[in-house]
Amino acid sequence: MQPQSKYCELHQKAYENIQKKFEVWKKASNIEWQDYLKEVATNPFTGSWAREVAESLLSEKELGSVERNV
Ligand SMILES: [Zn+2]
Repeated sequence: MQPQSKYCELHQKAYENIQKKFEVWKKASNIEWQDYLKEVATNPFTGSWAREVAESLLSEKELGSVERNV
């Protein structure tokens, strides 16, 4: 396990996918990171892992809070 990672493997994967998709979105629509996260969090097609990561990033309180139940 990486010490700097606050996510388990599945959330980490979701987080990487979020970052990759953001680069694509940004090129297409120049969207801001926060707005993008809101889109991800509210999109009904977002998987639950990605949504939890987006919500935790938006709350900015505790990045690892999403892992409480793990
Ligand atoms: Zn997790």
